[in-house]
Amino acid sequence: MSVSLDDTSRCPVDAVCAGCGGSAVLGGRILGVTTAESHLGVFCITVCARCSPEGWEMPLSWVTLQVLNHCEHLGITSDAMARKMEAER
Ligand SMILES: [Zn+2]
Ligand SMILES: [Zn+2]
Repeated sequence: MSVSLDDTSRCPVDAVCAGCGGSAVLGGRILGVTTAESHLGVFCITVCARCSPEGWEMPLSWVTLQVLNHCEHLGITSDAMARKMEAER
């Protein structure tokens, strides 16, 4: 079974952008889920069309939680994700 760590088809979209805090209603921003990579693993994050998670400083505890959540979205364990990241490097 091959799983793409960047697959966001089963990730929930947050009500607000993680970057600017804008909601989909205010200002008509379109929110979408994108993936970001950290040394802990790949995780998903909701951003608007104008924000990109690249280079963001995010709290480690939050990133850890997001990585675990994203493993769940993908239906894999965090061990499987770590192995996959190792293999792709
Ligand atoms: Zn934004
Ligand atoms: Zn996810």
